[in-house]
Order: sequence, then C-alpha cells, then structure tokens
Amino acid sequence: MGADVIVVGGGVVGLTTAVTLAERGLRVRVWSRDPAGATTSAVAGALWWPYRIEPAERVDGWSLETLAVYEELAAASEETGVRRVAGLHGGERLAALGGWAAGLGDAAEVPEGLRVTLPLLDMPVHLAWLERRLAAAGGTVERRAVSGFGEAAEAG
Ligand SMILES: Cc1cc2nc3c(=O)[nH]c(=O)nc-3n(C[C@H](O)[C@H](O)[C@H](O)COP(=O)(O)OP(=O)(O)OC[C@H]3O[C@@H](n4cnc5c(N)ncnc54)[C@H](O)[C@@H]3O)c2cc1C
Repeated sequence: MGADVIVVGGGVVGLTTAVTLAERGLRVRVWSRDPAGATTSAVAGALWWPYRIEPAERVDGWSLETLAVYEELAAASEETGVRRVAGLHGGERLAALGGWAAGLGDAAEVPEGLRVTLPLLDMPVHLAWLERRLAAAGGTVERRAVSGFGEAAEAG
C-alpha cells in the first residue's frame, strides 16, 4: 500500500500527528512496535500542564493551541477521554510560569498554590479514539518495529 507519510510510533504523539495529516488529505500509515495500550502514553497521568518543554520561544503557541483543542474535545469527554477538572496545583505561582499561563482562564492564586481548571485525559480512551479518528480519515496502524527511519523512507 502506498503512502504519502509513514509515522513511526503509535503513542499520543504519533497518532495525533497521523490524524492531523490524514485529515488534511494525505495517505498516512502508522508503524508502531507496540499496541497503543502498551505505550508510555497509555499510562500517562495526562494532565495538560506545559513542563520542561523546549524550545521556549515556541512553547507558548503550542501549549495554548493544545489547550484550545482539548477544551473543545472535553465537550464529548466520554468519546474522546478528555475532561476538564478543577483542582489545586500545589505550590505553583503564576509569575513563575511561561507566557502560556495567560491562557489559564480561571486560575486563582491561593496560599497553597494555584486553583485552576485543566484538561485531564483518560489515555486508553483517548488513544482508542485517536485510532478510530485516524481510520475514519483513511489512515492505518500497523504493528511493525523498525531499526531506523530509513526503513520508512524506503517504503514510502
Ligand atoms: C507515569 C507517567 C505520567 C505522565 N504524566 C504526564 C502528564 O500528566 N502530562 C503529560 O503531558 N505527560 C505525562 N507523561 C509523559 C507522556 O506520557 C509522554 O510525554 C508521552 O506519552 C510521549 O508520547 P509519545 O507518543 O512520544 O511516546 P510513546 O507513548 O512512548 O510511544 C512511542 C511509540 O513508538 C513506538 N516505537 C518505539 N520504538 C519503535 C521502533 N523501533 N519501531 C516502531 N515503533 C517504535 C512504540 O511502540 C510506541 O507506539 C507521563 C509519563 C509517565 C510515564
């Protein structure tokens, strides 16, 4: 089967990339050594909270775009696995965060930290939803381990 793009890796990064490309009309194949349920992504606590991400100058834009998408997906949380959860981020202070903190709609500092509502994902549900969304856009997921990206380049 021909493809415009082969994405190596079927965790949250690979599947999200594949969905984005497939929905723009590209023929996408995902090659993943492991089933989605056996990836690191499947066991993530999965709170949206930019943490030690680089490059700093691009993090604000990435973070806020992701926040907006997750807030939209939270409208169908049973299906997407994304919900908005109100809680306390212990010890956090707004001034210590990046520019992305301006997008935290209801953040309020309290003596214990930051009260804020954030996206929290149920990853097994979210990964299964991404796979279904990819399939609906014509993409495929194959169990396949590679020893280097050259293998994908040759097959593409
Ligand atoms: C306990 C825990 C809690 C976390 N909590 C959070 C959190 O609250 N918020 C947050 O943002 N992040 C959190 N993370 C981090 C988050 O899980 C990772 O950043 C994210 O899952 C990385 O996704 P990924 O798709 O890049 O990688 P992975 O999920 O690791 O997927 C890698 C993919 O590559 C495939 N692969 C690997 N080698 C090959 C090969 N040779 N050939 C073919 N395929 C291959 C694998 O099979 C898999 O499909 C947490 C992580 C852990 C462990």
